[in-house]
Amino acid sequence: MISKPKGTEDIIFNKAKQIKYVEKVIDEVMEKYNYNYIDTPIFESTELFHRSVGDASDIVTKETYDFTDRGGREMTLRPEGTAGVVRSYIENKMYGMASQPIKLYYNGPMFRYERPQAGRDRQFSQFGVEVLGSDDAMVDAEVISLAYNIYKTIGLSNIVVNINSLGDTESRDNYRKLIVDYFTPHIDDLCDDCKRRLNSNPLRILDCKVDADSEIMKNAPSILDSLNKESRQHFDKVCEYLDILQVPYSINSSIVRGLDYYDHTVFEFVDKSMEGNSNVLGGGGRYNNLVKELGGEDIPAVGFASGISRVLLALEAEEVSLDINEDIDLFLLYVNEVEKNYAIYLTQELRMNGFIVETEYLNRSLKAQFRQADRLNSKFVSVLNSEDLDNNEIKVKNTKTKEEDVINLDALIYYLEEKSNDEVMDDIYNLDNE
Ligand code: AMP
Repeated sequence: MISKPKGTEDIIFNKAKQIKYVEKVIDEVMEKYNYNYIDTPIFESTELFHRSVGDASDIVTKETYDFTDRGGREMTLRPEGTAGVVRSYIENKMYGMASQPIKLYYNGPMFRYERPQAGRDRQFSQFGVEVLGSDDAMVDAEVISLAYNIYKTIGLSNIVVNINSLGDTESRDNYRKLIVDYFTPHIDDLCDDCKRRLNSNPLRILDCKVDADSEIMKNAPSILDSLNKESRQHFDKVCEYLDILQVPYSINSSIVRGLDYYDHTVFEFVDKSMEGNSNVLGGGGRYNNLVKELGGEDIPAVGFASGISRVLLALEAEEVSLDINEDIDLFLLYVNEVEKNYAIYLTQELRMNGFIVETEYLNRSLKAQFRQADRLNSKFVSVLNSEDLDNNEIKVKNTKTKEEDVINLDALIYYLEEKSNDEVMDDIYNLDNE
């Protein structure tokens, strides 16, 4: 038997339904915020990720799926969504469009060669947004509140935002010098990755999971003390707007994020009901230099990305059950060929009028068909009968109340509509009385 590759998953049945539910909420909330859906290629030139995510980042040094295509071109399966979106923004000259800023969202598979564990796969889906063309702090706040409201609408209630600022280039250069001076005398106490980062990417030392609890790490200077006036002002504004939007946040100066392109605001969403490193549902930040870095104009931008499977883990941790429909409306049972023809015809007719309808595909006995209707939680069943059908009639039975009605075939749609409405009203009534 051939098995699926390590770190990948077959998303089937209940999990597939949960993901579809989550994706529907994402689409609906994005629509309200007026973000445009964008779908970029799953593979891009390797160079794109070296120049955006960064040569020294963990993702590019250790985690990309690289291949040479049959034409000899160096390609990479995308490890994240921002690089492709920014490439598309430049290539499609979106900066020249009349309506600015450009607000985009995506949802799709990403690939990272990581050690598979709970909440960490080699193929995983991320949804995210990118807003290009505004450096106003209100956009940072909108992007954060948008993600927060998606989590909330899905049903999560234990989410907090950890937020920090990396400042502009000047602030970051100053801070880099400070922490290199701070960590150099302690180099022997740092993990191997951090020893390497001291030269290549010193800010990432602060994000180290291995040394996180050490005294050296805890006493490291805070980047917030190195912010120049403009950077401080931008950060204060983001916090002010988050207060207006009533998004719960805590300022955490150790957040630097794993991608090299961020400046100013960076943030992470944590579910407090979850434990370990997988409690980060998503994160993002501002990246005012990336468009230029990739050959575009000097255009500021901000975005976030969130893993879909992490959202499902968070739902489990918070014990939220999604409002997923597990029932069907009607199961049509039949015995002979004439009745089967009716079943085929009526199934289509009712489905096209908005009902979830099933029928028998395996020519089983009536008893077995009833069992199947039961398995599918059918609200109504109808045993098609040639005699009734000749009289343009059909018998429909409510599986809960066991009530049976004989209905004119032409009135079947109205009958089911009315009965469904009754059921909705009953549900509302029962809720009121709980
Ligand atoms: P990043 O792009 O590294 O900032 O990650 C943003 C979010 O994507 C994380 O918070 C996770 O929810 C998700 N994510 C990143 N890497 C993985 C992975 N290997 N498996 C599953 N989800 C992931």
